[in-house]
Amino acid sequence: MVEKWLVGGDIGGTTIKMAFINQNGEIISKWEIPTNINDGGKYIPVDIAKSIEQTLSKLGQEKQKLIGMGIGAPGPVNLRNGSIDVAVNLGWKNFPLRDLLEIETSLPVIVDNDANIAAIGEMWKGAGEGTKDLLCVTLGTGVGGGIIANGQIVHGINGAGGEIGHITSLIEGGAPCNCGKTGCIETIASATGIVRLMIEELSSTPTPSKLRDFHIQHQTLSSELVFKLANEGDELANKVIRKVTLYLGLALANLADGLNPEKIIIGGGVSKAGDALLVPLKEQFTRFAFPRVSQGLELAIATLGNDAGIIGGAWLVKRRLLNRYENIPLHL
Ligand code: ZN
Repeated sequence: MVEKWLVGGDIGGTTIKMAFINQNGEIISKWEIPTNINDGGKYIPVDIAKSIEQTLSKLGQEKQKLIGMGIGAPGPVNLRNGSIDVAVNLGWKNFPLRDLLEIETSLPVIVDNDANIAAIGEMWKGAGEGTKDLLCVTLGTGVGGGIIANGQIVHGINGAGGEIGHITSLIEGGAPCNCGKTGCIETIASATGIVRLMIEELSSTPTPSKLRDFHIQHQTLSSELVFKLANEGDELANKVIRKVTLYLGLALANLADGLNPEKIIIGGGVSKAGDALLVPLKEQFTRFAFPRVSQGLELAIATLGNDAGIIGGAWLVKRRLLNRYENIPLHL
């Protein structure tokens, strides 16, 4: 019996991550191509198709080896036709991504939001393995999210389900968010938000801090540095981390009260802080969540890193097959 492969993809603003993945979720081969945003991003589908052909020939394989492709894209996805309404980074507007990819690759294609497929990836092979009800939050430049209920992505009516980053945390006096509102959790718990809060803290008090010296000298700060100095006992850095985990813990507790998930998985660059983030976050979460929701719920750091999206994309193809062939073995 010949094993067939799934294709996973994850389109980002600077690179497109791609992989051939077997039906056990193991990566056979992965690669990246630069995202060509020229002419409104119109070359992206053909670039993806070419890179698939090239990798197949490098591996000495034919197109028949592939079953289909699942791919993530930034921005809400129109689930009826797999098109992307707007992706500012890529220059797309009403871009028929699924149709173009199907034409260029001759494969069946499933398109979903990038944060959603990362959540699915963590459910299949990462920190959420074995669970069907989970929340995933990605703390990066922004705050992304994916909600999975009973093994299914919660898309909502407009494909904007899981936009955890735009939960309002400050009803007054919050910083402006990219979405047009103010006070979203993204303005507080993203890497950018943490740095902004730190700079605000430094300018509002004369309390000594190594971070102030660093900021004066280099005119820059990072969330990693804030966590590092908080660990070393810096008073102002600890104050900022307490604020970040207070609002994030509150937002996640309110969300969890509505969903009663088994796990909450925290990913993205900020999650590299590990326990320095997780321990105070758990404390705040437990403080605000309904006790029955807290019981048995596990807060964990994501384990797949940048591979979550490609693995999640592959899972979408596999699930479509499972739906189609219910009890027929997948080794077709
Ligand atoms: Zn927002």
